[in-house]
Amino acid sequence: MPNQVRYRCNACGNLTRFDVIEERKTRSFYHYTLGGELTIEQSEDLEHRVEQVICRWCQTGKSVIPVTPDEDLQGTETRPTTAGDDAT
Ligand SMILES: [Zn+2]
Repeated sequence: MPNQVRYRCNACGNLTRFDVIEERKTRSFYHYTLGGELTIEQSEDLEHRVEQVICRWCQTGKSVIPVTPDEDLQGTETRPTTAGDDAT
């Protein structure tokens, strides 16, 4: 899943339940049979805008912040570089 955004509510620590209000414009390939039965074979996001993310528990989006998955992995950037750390 590319660009998967997660959210966190700083007020209650919620990581899993949100109401997301979003606007999405998509281009889809509608494939009909001659009998009129529809299969959507491809769907591509042309525009996607998240308007509001509301914590289910707090009923407000005031404390909800986006969390990118990269943040957890890139802990090296903030690691303090202690120069005098040689063991010998
Ligand atoms: Zn909350």
